[in-house]
Amino acid sequence: MTITGRHQILVVGGGTAGITVAARLLRKGYTDVAVIEPSTTHYYQPLWTLVGGGKAKASATARTEASVMPKGATWIMSAAIAFDPHNNTVTCADGATFEYDLLVVSPGIQLDWQSTEGLQQALGHDGVSSNYRFDLAPRTWDFIRGLRSGSAVFTVPSGAIKCAGAPQKIAYLAADYWRREGVLKDIDVHLVMPGARPFGIPSIADSLDDVIADYGITLHTHSEVTAVDAASRKVAVTSLAAGGTDTMLSYDVLHAVPRQSAPDWVKSSPLSTGDAAGYVDIDKHTMQHVRHPNVFSLGDAASSPNSKTGAAIRKQAPTVVDNIGAYLERRPLSATYDGYSSCPIVTSSHAMLLAEFDYDMALKPSIPVLDPTTPHRAYWYLKKYGLPFMYWNLMLKGRV
Ligand SMILES: Cc1cc2nc3c(=O)[nH]c(=O)nc-3n(C[C@H](O)[C@H](O)[C@H](O)COP(=O)(O)OP(=O)(O)OC[C@H]3O[C@@H](n4cnc5c(N)ncnc54)[C@H](O)[C@@H]3O)c2cc1C
Repeated sequence: MTITGRHQILVVGGGTAGITVAARLLRKGYTDVAVIEPSTTHYYQPLWTLVGGGKAKASATARTEASVMPKGATWIMSAAIAFDPHNNTVTCADGATFEYDLLVVSPGIQLDWQSTEGLQQALGHDGVSSNYRFDLAPRTWDFIRGLRSGSAVFTVPSGAIKCAGAPQKIAYLAADYWRREGVLKDIDVHLVMPGARPFGIPSIADSLDDVIADYGITLHTHSEVTAVDAASRKVAVTSLAAGGTDTMLSYDVLHAVPRQSAPDWVKSSPLSTGDAAGYVDIDKHTMQHVRHPNVFSLGDAASSPNSKTGAAIRKQAPTVVDNIGAYLERRPLSATYDGYSSCPIVTSSHAMLLAEFDYDMALKPSIPVLDPTTPHRAYWYLKKYGLPFMYWNLMLKGRV
Protein backbone atom coordinates (compact mmCIF):
# COMPACT_ATOMS: atom_id res chain seq x y z
CA MET A 1 0.00 0.00 0.00
CA THR A 2 1.32 3.46 -0.86
CA ILE A 3 1.23 5.92 2.01
CA THR A 4 0.13 9.39 0.86
CA GLY A 5 1.17 11.16 4.05
CA ARG A 6 1.69 10.76 7.76
CA HIS A 7 0.66 12.85 10.74
CA GLN A 8 1.29 12.53 14.42
CA ILE A 9 -2.40 13.06 15.19
CA LEU A 10 -5.09 12.34 12.59
CA VAL A 11 -8.66 13.47 13.28
CA VAL A 12 -11.48 11.97 11.19
CA GLY A 13 -14.38 14.43 10.91
CA GLY A 14 -14.25 18.21 11.21
CA GLY A 15 -17.62 18.71 12.90
CA THR A 16 -18.24 19.81 16.47
CA ALA A 17 -16.03 17.13 18.02
CA GLY A 18 -13.21 17.06 15.47
CA ILE A 19 -12.67 20.82 15.34
CA THR A 20 -12.91 21.22 19.12
CA VAL A 21 -10.33 18.49 19.73
CA ALA A 22 -8.00 19.70 16.96
CA ALA A 23 -8.10 23.25 18.35
CA ARG A 24 -7.35 22.02 21.86
CA LEU A 25 -4.45 19.85 20.65
CA LEU A 26 -2.90 22.79 18.79
CA ARG A 27 -3.29 25.03 21.83
CA LYS A 28 -1.46 22.37 23.87
CA GLY A 29 1.50 22.62 21.52
CA TYR A 30 1.05 19.67 19.18
CA THR A 31 2.21 20.80 15.77
CA ASP A 32 1.27 17.93 13.45
CA VAL A 33 -2.52 17.65 13.60
CA ALA A 34 -4.48 16.79 10.45
CA VAL A 35 -8.27 16.76 10.00
CA ILE A 36 -9.96 14.59 7.36
CA GLU A 37 -13.20 16.39 6.44
CA PRO A 38 -14.97 16.29 3.06
CA SER A 39 -17.49 19.11 3.61
CA THR A 40 -16.79 22.76 2.82
CA THR A 41 -19.52 23.87 5.25
CA HIS A 42 -19.63 23.53 9.03
CA TYR A 43 -23.04 23.59 10.76
CA TYR A 44 -24.17 24.63 14.21
CA GLN A 45 -26.99 22.07 14.32
CA PRO A 46 -28.59 23.02 17.70
CA LEU A 47 -30.02 26.16 16.07
CA TRP A 48 -31.89 24.09 13.44
CA THR A 49 -34.65 23.65 16.04
CA LEU A 50 -35.18 27.42 16.14
CA VAL A 51 -34.99 27.60 12.33
CA GLY A 52 -37.83 25.07 12.14
CA GLY A 53 -39.75 27.09 14.73
CA GLY A 54 -39.32 30.34 12.80
CA LYS A 55 -37.03 31.84 15.39
CA ALA A 56 -33.66 31.80 13.59
CA LYS A 57 -32.36 31.98 10.03
CA ALA A 58 -30.77 28.89 8.47
CA SER A 59 -27.88 31.05 7.27
CA ALA A 60 -26.93 31.76 10.91
CA THR A 61 -26.21 28.06 11.41
CA ALA A 62 -23.62 27.59 8.65
CA ARG A 63 -20.06 28.83 8.18
CA THR A 64 -17.34 27.75 5.81
CA GLU A 65 -15.28 24.82 7.07
CA ALA A 66 -12.19 26.88 6.22
CA SER A 67 -13.25 29.53 8.75
CA VAL A 68 -13.47 27.02 11.62
CA MET A 69 -10.43 24.90 10.74
CA PRO A 70 -7.90 25.73 13.49
CA LYS A 71 -4.79 27.62 12.41
CA GLY A 72 -1.94 25.15 12.12
CA ALA A 73 -4.11 22.11 11.35
CA THR A 74 -3.69 20.33 8.01
CA TRP A 75 -7.07 19.97 6.30
CA ILE A 76 -7.38 16.79 4.21
CA MET A 77 -10.46 17.52 2.13
CA SER A 78 -11.75 14.01 1.54
CA ALA A 79 -14.00 11.40 3.14
CA ALA A 80 -12.43 8.60 5.14
CA ILE A 81 -13.70 5.19 4.06
CA ALA A 82 -11.59 2.60 5.90
CA PHE A 83 -9.57 2.15 9.07
CA ASP A 84 -6.64 -0.24 9.38
CA PRO A 85 -5.74 0.05 13.07
CA HIS A 86 -3.16 -2.75 12.83
CA ASN A 87 -1.13 -0.68 10.36
CA ASN A 88 -2.19 2.70 11.83
CA THR A 89 -3.70 3.95 8.58
CA VAL A 90 -6.88 5.60 7.32
CA THR A 91 -7.86 5.41 3.65
CA CYS A 92 -9.95 8.07 1.96
CA ALA A 93 -12.50 7.97 -0.88
CA ASP A 94 -9.97 9.44 -3.32
CA GLY A 95 -7.59 6.53 -2.65
CA ALA A 96 -5.18 8.48 -0.43
CA THR A 97 -3.93 6.64 2.68
CA PHE A 98 -2.64 8.41 5.77
CA GLU A 99 -0.55 6.99 8.56
CA TYR A 100 -0.84 8.19 12.16
CA ASP A 101 0.64 7.79 15.62
CA LEU A 102 -2.65 8.70 17.22
CA LEU A 103 -6.15 8.62 15.70
CA VAL A 104 -9.26 10.53 16.82
CA VAL A 105 -12.51 9.29 15.28
CA SER A 106 -15.39 11.79 15.12
CA PRO A 107 -17.36 11.51 11.84
CA GLY A 108 -20.75 12.00 13.54
CA ILE A 109 -23.90 9.93 13.24
CA GLN A 110 -25.78 8.57 10.23
CA LEU A 111 -29.41 9.49 9.58
CA ASP A 112 -31.17 6.26 8.57
CA TRP A 113 -34.09 7.84 6.68
CA GLN A 114 -34.76 4.65 4.73
CA SER A 115 -35.48 2.64 7.87
CA THR A 116 -38.89 4.35 8.13
CA GLU A 117 -40.86 3.18 5.11
CA GLY A 118 -41.87 5.98 2.75
CA LEU A 119 -40.19 8.74 4.76
CA GLN A 120 -37.31 9.65 2.47
CA GLN A 121 -39.57 10.15 -0.57
CA ALA A 122 -42.05 12.24 1.45
CA LEU A 123 -39.51 14.74 2.80
CA GLY A 124 -39.80 18.39 1.87
CA HIS A 125 -43.26 18.48 0.35
CA ASP A 126 -46.93 18.07 1.28
CA GLY A 127 -46.35 18.97 4.91
CA VAL A 128 -43.49 16.57 5.67
CA SER A 129 -40.24 17.95 7.04
CA SER A 130 -37.42 17.40 9.51
CA ASN A 131 -35.17 19.74 11.45
CA TYR A 132 -32.48 17.07 11.19
CA ARG A 133 -31.43 18.43 7.77
CA PHE A 134 -30.13 21.95 7.16
CA ASP A 135 -32.07 22.30 3.89
CA LEU A 136 -35.32 21.06 5.44
CA ALA A 137 -35.42 23.05 8.69
CA PRO A 138 -36.79 26.16 6.87
CA ARG A 139 -39.45 23.92 5.25
CA THR A 140 -40.57 22.88 8.76
CA TRP A 141 -41.33 26.51 9.48
CA ASP A 142 -43.13 26.96 6.12
CA PHE A 143 -45.42 24.04 6.96
CA ILE A 144 -46.01 25.10 10.59
CA ARG A 145 -46.94 28.67 9.76
CA GLY A 146 -49.15 27.51 6.87
CA LEU A 147 -51.34 25.29 9.05
CA ARG A 148 -54.58 26.73 10.34
CA SER A 149 -56.53 23.56 11.11
CA GLY A 150 -56.12 19.79 10.88
CA SER A 151 -53.61 17.45 12.38
CA ALA A 152 -49.88 17.67 13.12
CA VAL A 153 -47.71 14.69 14.04
CA PHE A 154 -44.25 14.94 15.64
CA THR A 155 -42.14 11.77 15.84
CA VAL A 156 -39.34 10.47 18.05
CA PRO A 157 -37.58 7.36 16.68
CA SER A 158 -36.36 4.36 18.66
CA GLY A 159 -32.65 3.97 19.46
CA ALA A 160 -30.02 6.57 20.28
CA ILE A 161 -30.22 9.81 18.30
CA LYS A 162 -28.41 13.12 18.41
CA CYS A 163 -30.13 15.58 20.72
CA ALA A 164 -32.91 13.33 21.96
CA GLY A 165 -34.91 16.40 23.00
CA ALA A 166 -35.01 18.00 19.54
CA PRO A 167 -37.95 15.93 18.22
CA GLN A 168 -40.20 17.24 21.00
CA LYS A 169 -38.88 20.80 21.13
CA ILE A 170 -40.29 21.53 17.69
CA ALA A 171 -43.71 20.24 18.80
CA TYR A 172 -43.74 22.80 21.62
CA LEU A 173 -42.55 25.65 19.40
CA ALA A 174 -45.24 24.80 16.84
CA ALA A 175 -48.01 24.51 19.46
CA ASP A 176 -46.92 27.83 21.00
CA TYR A 177 -47.04 29.50 17.58
CA TRP A 178 -50.48 28.06 16.77
CA ARG A 179 -51.77 29.19 20.17
CA ARG A 180 -50.51 32.73 19.61
CA GLU A 181 -52.23 32.69 16.21
CA GLY A 182 -55.47 31.52 17.86
CA VAL A 183 -55.65 28.28 15.86
CA LEU A 184 -54.30 25.69 18.31
CA LYS A 185 -57.86 24.69 19.22
CA ASP A 186 -58.42 23.67 15.58
CA ILE A 187 -55.27 21.52 15.32
CA ASP A 188 -54.85 18.02 16.75
CA VAL A 189 -51.24 17.82 17.82
CA HIS A 190 -49.71 14.35 18.32
CA LEU A 191 -46.31 13.49 19.77
CA VAL A 192 -45.28 9.87 19.14
CA MET A 193 -42.41 8.50 21.23
CA PRO A 194 -40.93 5.09 22.05
CA GLY A 195 -40.32 5.79 25.74
CA ALA A 196 -42.72 5.66 28.68
CA ARG A 197 -42.21 9.33 29.53
CA PRO A 198 -40.97 12.44 27.68
CA PHE A 199 -37.66 12.43 29.59
CA GLY A 200 -35.52 9.96 31.52
CA ILE A 201 -35.37 12.09 34.70
CA PRO A 202 -38.72 12.01 36.58
CA SER A 203 -38.70 15.66 37.73
CA ILE A 204 -38.01 16.87 34.15
CA ALA A 205 -40.61 14.44 32.77
CA ASP A 206 -43.19 15.84 35.23
CA SER A 207 -42.47 19.34 34.00
CA LEU A 208 -42.79 18.25 30.34
CA ASP A 209 -46.05 16.43 31.12
CA ASP A 210 -47.38 19.83 32.25
CA VAL A 211 -46.17 21.48 29.02
CA ILE A 212 -47.79 18.73 26.93
CA ALA A 213 -51.07 18.98 28.85
CA ASP A 214 -51.04 22.78 28.64
CA TYR A 215 -50.86 22.65 24.82
CA GLY A 216 -53.40 19.81 24.67
CA ILE A 217 -50.92 17.59 22.82
CA THR A 218 -51.90 13.91 22.53
CA LEU A 219 -48.93 11.87 23.71
CA HIS A 220 -48.41 8.38 22.26
CA THR A 221 -45.87 6.59 24.46
CA HIS A 222 -44.30 3.16 23.77
CA SER A 223 -44.96 3.93 20.10
CA GLU A 224 -43.02 4.64 16.95
CA VAL A 225 -43.95 5.92 13.49
CA THR A 226 -42.75 3.10 11.21
CA ALA A 227 -44.19 4.12 7.83
CA VAL A 228 -45.29 7.25 6.01
CA ASP A 229 -47.98 7.07 3.33
CA ALA A 230 -47.59 10.45 1.66
CA ALA A 231 -50.40 9.83 -0.85
CA SER A 232 -53.05 9.49 1.86
CA ARG A 233 -51.18 11.71 4.34
CA LYS A 234 -51.13 9.05 7.03
CA VAL A 235 -48.46 7.50 9.23
CA ALA A 236 -48.41 4.01 10.70
CA VAL A 237 -47.89 4.16 14.46
CA THR A 238 -46.53 0.88 15.77
CA SER A 239 -47.17 0.07 19.40
CA LEU A 240 -43.94 -1.13 20.98
CA ALA A 241 -45.72 -2.27 24.15
CA ALA A 242 -48.51 -4.32 22.60
CA GLY A 243 -46.47 -6.53 20.32
CA GLY A 244 -46.25 -4.31 17.27
CA THR A 245 -49.84 -3.55 16.30
CA ASP A 246 -50.26 -0.61 13.92
CA THR A 247 -52.75 2.24 14.00
CA MET A 248 -52.97 4.90 11.28
CA LEU A 249 -52.80 8.59 12.13
CA SER A 250 -53.65 11.36 9.65
CA TYR A 251 -51.43 14.39 9.29
CA ASP A 252 -51.42 17.75 7.57
CA VAL A 253 -47.99 18.53 8.98
CA LEU A 254 -45.50 15.79 9.86
CA HIS A 255 -42.20 16.52 11.60
CA ALA A 256 -40.24 13.28 11.31
CA VAL A 257 -36.94 12.34 12.93
CA PRO A 258 -35.08 9.38 11.43
CA ARG A 259 -33.55 6.46 13.30
CA GLN A 260 -29.81 6.90 13.61
CA SER A 261 -26.68 4.76 13.86
CA ALA A 262 -22.94 4.91 13.23
CA PRO A 263 -21.95 5.60 9.59
CA ASP A 264 -22.06 2.27 7.67
CA TRP A 265 -18.31 2.34 6.95
CA VAL A 266 -17.61 2.73 10.69
CA LYS A 267 -20.05 -0.10 11.55
CA SER A 268 -18.23 -2.50 9.26
CA SER A 269 -14.76 -1.37 10.40
CA PRO A 270 -12.46 -3.03 12.95
CA LEU A 271 -13.08 -0.09 15.31
CA SER A 272 -16.81 -0.78 15.71
CA THR A 273 -18.61 -2.37 18.65
CA GLY A 274 -19.91 -4.88 16.11
CA ASP A 275 -23.54 -4.56 17.21
CA ALA A 276 -26.39 -3.07 15.16
CA ALA A 277 -25.66 0.53 16.18
CA GLY A 278 -21.97 0.00 15.38
CA TYR A 279 -20.39 2.96 17.18
CA VAL A 280 -16.64 3.27 17.82
CA ASP A 281 -15.91 0.93 20.71
CA ILE A 282 -14.44 3.06 23.47
CA ASP A 283 -14.12 3.09 27.25
CA LYS A 284 -16.89 5.43 28.39
CA HIS A 285 -14.67 7.23 30.91
CA THR A 286 -11.27 7.56 29.17
CA MET A 287 -12.71 7.70 25.60
CA GLN A 288 -9.87 5.39 24.50
CA HIS A 289 -10.62 2.54 22.10
CA VAL A 290 -11.01 -0.74 23.96
CA ARG A 291 -8.78 -2.73 21.56
CA HIS A 292 -6.50 -0.13 19.95
CA PRO A 293 -4.91 2.15 22.58
CA ASN A 294 -3.72 4.76 20.05
CA VAL A 295 -7.32 5.39 18.94
CA PHE A 296 -9.77 7.72 20.73
CA SER A 297 -13.29 8.69 19.80
CA LEU A 298 -15.83 11.27 20.92
CA GLY A 299 -19.04 12.89 19.75
CA ASP A 300 -21.98 11.19 18.10
CA ALA A 301 -19.91 8.35 16.57
CA ALA A 302 -18.56 7.15 19.92
CA SER A 303 -20.08 4.22 21.84
CA SER A 304 -20.10 6.03 25.22
CA PRO A 305 -23.73 5.82 26.38
CA ASN A 306 -24.18 9.54 27.04
CA SER A 307 -26.93 11.60 25.46
CA LYS A 308 -25.42 12.58 22.08
CA THR A 309 -25.07 16.37 22.08
CA GLY A 310 -22.60 19.14 21.42
CA ALA A 311 -22.78 19.87 25.15
CA ALA A 312 -21.44 16.38 25.85
CA ILE A 313 -18.57 17.02 23.43
CA ARG A 314 -17.63 20.18 25.33
CA LYS A 315 -16.84 17.94 28.32
CA GLN A 316 -15.47 14.98 26.33
CA ALA A 317 -12.92 17.02 24.38
CA PRO A 318 -10.70 18.02 27.35
CA THR A 319 -10.75 14.42 28.56
CA VAL A 320 -9.69 13.12 25.15
CA VAL A 321 -6.91 15.70 24.80
CA ASP A 322 -5.54 15.06 28.31
CA ASN A 323 -5.58 11.32 27.73
CA ILE A 324 -3.92 11.65 24.32
CA GLY A 325 -1.13 13.56 26.08
CA ALA A 326 -0.82 10.85 28.70
CA TYR A 327 -0.79 8.10 26.06
CA LEU A 328 1.87 9.79 23.94
CA GLU A 329 4.04 10.44 27.01
CA ARG A 330 3.49 6.87 28.27
CA ARG A 331 1.75 8.01 31.45
CA PRO A 332 -1.40 6.32 32.83
CA LEU A 333 -4.61 7.90 31.49
CA SER A 334 -6.05 9.93 34.33
CA ALA A 335 -8.76 12.13 32.77
CA THR A 336 -12.29 10.78 32.97
CA TYR A 337 -15.58 11.83 31.40
CA ASP A 338 -18.61 11.42 33.68
CA GLY A 339 -21.25 11.26 30.94
CA TYR A 340 -22.23 14.93 31.24
CA SER A 341 -24.72 16.03 28.65
CA SER A 342 -27.31 18.73 28.50
CA CYS A 343 -30.63 18.93 26.81
CA PRO A 344 -31.93 22.46 26.30
CA ILE A 345 -35.67 21.85 25.86
CA VAL A 346 -37.38 24.85 24.33
CA THR A 347 -40.96 24.80 25.62
CA SER A 348 -42.27 27.96 23.91
CA SER A 349 -40.99 30.95 21.96
CA HIS A 350 -39.78 32.54 25.19
CA ALA A 351 -38.97 29.75 27.65
CA MET A 352 -36.56 26.86 27.95
CA LEU A 353 -35.76 24.12 30.41
CA LEU A 354 -32.10 23.14 30.69
CA ALA A 355 -31.63 19.52 31.75
CA GLU A 356 -27.96 18.83 32.55
CA PHE A 357 -27.09 15.35 33.78
CA ASP A 358 -24.43 12.60 33.85
CA TYR A 359 -24.27 8.84 33.20
CA ASP A 360 -26.28 8.22 36.39
CA MET A 361 -28.97 10.68 35.24
CA ALA A 362 -28.08 12.85 38.24
CA LEU A 363 -28.88 16.52 37.61
CA LYS A 364 -25.76 18.71 37.17
CA PRO A 365 -27.02 22.27 36.81
CA SER A 366 -24.38 24.80 35.69
CA ILE A 367 -26.52 27.69 36.97
CA PRO A 368 -27.76 26.38 40.35
CA VAL A 369 -29.91 29.45 41.06
CA LEU A 370 -32.29 28.48 38.24
CA ASP A 371 -34.40 25.39 39.03
CA PRO A 372 -33.40 22.96 36.22
CA THR A 373 -36.77 21.21 36.29
CA THR A 374 -38.83 24.22 35.16
CA PRO A 375 -38.70 26.39 32.01
CA HIS A 376 -37.08 29.84 32.34
CA ARG A 377 -36.95 32.86 30.06
CA ALA A 378 -33.22 33.40 30.76
CA TYR A 379 -32.45 30.01 29.22
CA TRP A 380 -34.23 31.01 26.03
CA TYR A 381 -31.73 33.83 25.53
CA LEU A 382 -28.91 31.43 26.34
CA LYS A 383 -30.14 29.09 23.58
CA LYS A 384 -30.73 31.78 20.97
CA TYR A 385 -27.70 34.00 21.60
CA GLY A 386 -25.37 32.73 24.35
CA LEU A 387 -24.73 29.17 23.21
CA PRO A 388 -24.15 29.99 19.50
CA PHE A 389 -21.68 32.72 20.53
CA MET A 390 -19.90 30.32 22.86
CA TYR A 391 -19.81 27.64 20.12
CA TRP A 392 -18.28 29.71 17.32
CA ASN A 393 -15.98 31.87 19.42
CA LEU A 394 -14.86 29.68 22.31
CA MET A 395 -15.60 25.98 21.87
CA LEU A 396 -14.38 25.61 18.28
CA LYS A 397 -11.29 27.59 19.24
CA GLY A 398 -10.50 25.14 22.05
CA ARG A 399 -11.07 27.76 24.76
CA VAL A 400 -13.96 26.10 26.67
C1 LIG B 1 -31.99 19.35 15.08
C2 LIG B 1 -30.82 19.20 16.02
C3 LIG B 1 -30.85 19.85 17.24
C4 LIG B 1 -29.79 19.71 18.11
N1 LIG B 1 -29.83 20.39 19.30
C5 LIG B 1 -28.78 20.33 20.14
C6 LIG B 1 -28.77 21.12 21.32
O1 LIG B 1 -29.71 21.86 21.60
N2 LIG B 1 -27.69 21.05 22.12
C7 LIG B 1 -26.62 20.25 21.82
O2 LIG B 1 -25.64 20.25 22.58
N3 LIG B 1 -26.61 19.48 20.71
C8 LIG B 1 -27.65 19.52 19.87
N4 LIG B 1 -27.64 18.77 18.71
C9 LIG B 1 -26.62 17.72 18.54
C10 LIG B 1 -25.25 18.21 18.07
O3 LIG B 1 -25.38 19.03 16.94
C11 LIG B 1 -24.39 16.98 17.77
O4 LIG B 1 -24.39 16.13 18.90
C12 LIG B 1 -22.97 17.37 17.44
O5 LIG B 1 -22.93 18.19 16.28
C13 LIG B 1 -22.13 16.12 17.19
O6 LIG B 1 -20.83 16.46 16.82
P1 LIG B 1 -19.93 15.45 15.97
O7 LIG B 1 -18.67 16.15 15.72
O8 LIG B 1 -19.93 14.12 16.61
O9 LIG B 1 -20.75 15.28 14.62
P2 LIG B 1 -21.03 16.44 13.54
O10 LIG B 1 -20.99 17.78 14.19
O11 LIG B 1 -22.27 16.02 12.85
O12 LIG B 1 -19.78 16.37 12.59
C14 LIG B 1 -19.41 15.21 11.88
C15 LIG B 1 -18.43 15.66 10.81
O13 LIG B 1 -17.85 14.52 10.19
C16 LIG B 1 -17.82 14.73 8.80
N5 LIG B 1 -17.80 13.43 8.14
C17 LIG B 1 -18.85 12.62 7.84
N6 LIG B 1 -18.42 11.52 7.22
C18 LIG B 1 -17.08 11.62 7.14
C19 LIG B 1 -16.07 10.78 6.60
N7 LIG B 1 -16.39 9.64 6.00
N8 LIG B 1 -14.78 11.19 6.69
C20 LIG B 1 -14.45 12.35 7.30
N9 LIG B 1 -15.39 13.18 7.81
C21 LIG B 1 -16.68 12.82 7.75
C22 LIG B 1 -19.07 15.53 8.50
O14 LIG B 1 -18.98 16.21 7.27
C23 LIG B 1 -19.12 16.46 9.70
O15 LIG B 1 -18.40 17.65 9.47
C24 LIG B 1 -28.67 18.90 17.78
C25 LIG B 1 -28.64 18.27 16.54
C26 LIG B 1 -29.71 18.42 15.66
C27 LIG B 1 -29.66 17.74 14.31
